[in-house]
Amino acid sequence: MSVRTRFAPSPTGFLHIGGARTALYNWLYARHHGGQFILRVEDTDAERSTTESMQIILDGLEWLGLDWDEGPGVGGDRGPYNQSERVAIYDRYLSRLEEAGLVYEDEGAIRFRVPDKEFTVHDEVCGDVTTNLKAAGSRRYDAELKKEVEANPDFVIKRPNGGYIFHFVNVVDDIEMGITHVIRGEDHLSNTPKHLALFEAFGVEPPVFAHIPLNLNPSGTKMSKRDQGALIHEYRESGFLADAVNNYMALLGWSGKEDQDVFSMEELIGKFDLSGITKSNSKFDFEKCKWVNAEHLKQLSPAALLEASRPFLEKAGLPVDDDRIPAALELARDRVQLLSEIPAIIETIFVDLPTYDPSSVEKVKSREGAAEAVSALREGLEQVEDWSDDAIKAGIVAGAESLGVKMGALMFPCRVGVMGSTSGADLVPVLSLLGKEVVLRRLSGFSEML
Ligand code: GLU
Repeated sequence: MSVRTRFAPSPTGFLHIGGARTALYNWLYARHHGGQFILRVEDTDAERSTTESMQIILDGLEWLGLDWDEGPGVGGDRGPYNQSERVAIYDRYLSRLEEAGLVYEDEGAIRFRVPDKEFTVHDEVCGDVTTNLKAAGSRRYDAELKKEVEANPDFVIKRPNGGYIFHFVNVVDDIEMGITHVIRGEDHLSNTPKHLALFEAFGVEPPVFAHIPLNLNPSGTKMSKRDQGALIHEYRESGFLADAVNNYMALLGWSGKEDQDVFSMEELIGKFDLSGITKSNSKFDFEKCKWVNAEHLKQLSPAALLEASRPFLEKAGLPVDDDRIPAALELARDRVQLLSEIPAIIETIFVDLPTYDPSSVEKVKSREGAAEAVSALREGLEQVEDWSDDAIKAGIVAGAESLGVKMGALMFPCRVGVMGSTSGADLVPVLSLLGKEVVLRRLSGFSEML
């Protein structure tokens, strides 16, 4: 039987890292087994579901590259894939329960008659969890008494207003869509006995369940949308690569057999398994996430680096199609963790005049013989003919020798004079990209500042 997994978001907010991680694990599991990954929209809560939220979720999944084989925009033969459009199917399933005498009306709502027996969830991550729903009873919050009170364990599957309840539609759809593996957040583990009772009522073998432990914020509480790193669209905006985010999300609750932190998508597909899902809660670490991104940046092909950087270069007003951009990106890629940090490193190559950092300039000025150093440097570089990295270095050495100092003594004033500050990309390749004329012009201008 082919593996069929699904991601079943409720479109009531942003795509959160917890939800995206659930989507990723389902996607990886399906891809690993050559199965199908289905996107199902759980939008039965008409008041809270919005099309804006759905669009954000779709955009987020698309950006991450978690493509779905069936679902919105793609279709499939088990659709429609929005629960709000599946009411006729739910009505049919409800009739089956009515005919079997397994439901009854209670003040306008329909309740499912919970059997007095034990249900055991054989969870791939959490192990066996056994519950007797009838004996365990149910509790609800009484607003008047302001406390929890005993409630009817027969749970509601249809509201008095006609709307179907999550447990019922979730199970009906997993049956109708032929879902073989349900991988979802641990917050749903306590719902699963109810789901097992419904599967049994329909005479259907339940899918395999794997509940993923929670993702906590650095202070150890459940990650919320206000925490840094919580929202997927912000990753894109702040300069993360989608595969790096997938890589980091994979590590948030799963580990492979080897001691490995950096994975390509192909490697993740090859190695992902349910047995590697960790049993304890994971803790979100933004610094590690950025580190993973930096590792992915180092591995991008030049063409992919250019494509990924493009929006950030455009936003900074840099000439994306300039011939020197690919070389400039190579100078930046090892120095940054995020794509958004690239423009600041390379912009000095593409502007008329560098922005002089006052404290760097002061540092040069405070050195004895600064003006002589810069003019010796200028003279040394003036002699350079072919303007290659090696020839530039030789020019700097010649300037240094004329003053009787080491090459290193000229590097600092040269960097500040040409690039404007002590930080940034490697000096010699930047000089090479700038061209002789610009470098000499900047050094002359700098001499006047000293
Ligand atoms: N709509 C549910 C949620 O967003 C999905 C539960 C499930 O995956 O079964 O939590």
